[in-house]
Amino acid sequence: MPEGQTTDRYYQQLKEELLQALPELGIDKLGVASPEPFTALKERLIRHRALGRESGFEEPDLDKRTDPSLLFDRPQSIIAIAIAYPSKLQDAPKSEPGARRGILSRSAWGMDYHHVLRDRLARLEWWLRERVPELRAESMVDTGELVDRAVAERAGIGWSGKNCAVITPEFGSWVYLGEMITNLPLPPDKPVTDQCGTCTKCIDACPTGALVGPGELDAQRCVSFVTQTKGFVSDEMMRKIGNRLYGCDTCQIVCPVNKGLNWTHQPELQPDPEKVKPLLVPLLTMGNRAFKEAYGSSASAWRGRKPIQRNAVIALGNFKDPSAVEPLRDVLLQDPRPELRGTAAWSLGRIGGQKAAAVLEEAAGRESDEQALAMIREALAGLRAAASGQAGEVSDQDREGVQTGGGRTD
Ligand code: SF4
Ligand code: SF4
Repeated sequence: MPEGQTTDRYYQQLKEELLQALPELGIDKLGVASPEPFTALKERLIRHRALGRESGFEEPDLDKRTDPSLLFDRPQSIIAIAIAYPSKLQDAPKSEPGARRGILSRSAWGMDYHHVLRDRLARLEWWLRERVPELRAESMVDTGELVDRAVAERAGIGWSGKNCAVITPEFGSWVYLGEMITNLPLPPDKPVTDQCGTCTKCIDACPTGALVGPGELDAQRCVSFVTQTKGFVSDEMMRKIGNRLYGCDTCQIVCPVNKGLNWTHQPELQPDPEKVKPLLVPLLTMGNRAFKEAYGSSASAWRGRKPIQRNAVIALGNFKDPSAVEPLRDVLLQDPRPELRGTAAWSLGRIGGQKAAAVLEEAAGRESDEQALAMIREALAGLRAAASGQAGEVSDQDREGVQTGGGRTD
């Protein structure tokens, strides 16, 4: 610190310089939060847990999630950063009969955002260390203990929307968030005023009612969470998944603040249309190696190929496209994973018709997994009921329509 300058003045100036340097650091927005414990958040998390609304992917220690001093020796500030990502797919390939496609959430377009944020935080740390060699810093991205959204909110990056996303006035909610705890007493920013007002579009549009209140998410009911699980999925949820292969953007797409916003300036985050809106059938037989080659660099790959393949099977059922019977037959009769076989049975039941029924009959005679067998029997029962005119007939309109489970996905 230059002689004769007060600490406050020095860090104020450093922060001003840092804000000027954001474009060269590849950071779209930066704010500073004080490192006090997030006490109100802790109460909310305790209630959330008691109500069984956690996803199970979170850091289990609520103290660590809400008290920066448990993660870092004498923290002085938390720097929050945001990087804007695209929301529109240019030259999107068409999903057509015989060539149906699924969709990945925007959060999985381009390179895995964890890598991109880590790169920006590393650049930021380097920039700070050049000016303050005694810097101590601990960076976190999504999988860290702190709640990114709570830090971003306190640091004035954006307000916490009723859809549970942080909404920035400049970039909408199409932003990735990361943070860095430091020993630098940088002056904190003020939170942004909540601008949701009386709007409830996100809550109304959620296909599963997972937004149980303003800013309150029941992760167990959230399609985005369910698409990332590995096992069997309930009938209700499979219908709601539509053609989503990973994640769900509905509550962000409908948000009026996001209208018309699309960010194309971060090169690593730009999507390959064929990868983010892929043909469903080739996904069914994709081996580990091919999957890693195609999706290894995407955030959607973190749970491996199984959830995405299961979701591709579900999407084919929701499209009710008879051309999918043959590839689903192969899954039902040959895939070694019971979840995929059971799900293929469900999809064949959705598609219906004599050919699908014959495949299900064939599978019923040889299935050894209890749950997969139950799903085969259920699908057969549904088809028999439909054949006798009781329920569940597949209309021409159903066959034509893109099933997106109550919300636009692409
Ligand atoms: S709209 Fe989709 S992502 Fe948003 S809360 Fe509902 S299910 Fe989850
Ligand atoms: S849709 Fe409306 S209520 Fe929901 S986050 Fe956006 S502005 Fe807020």
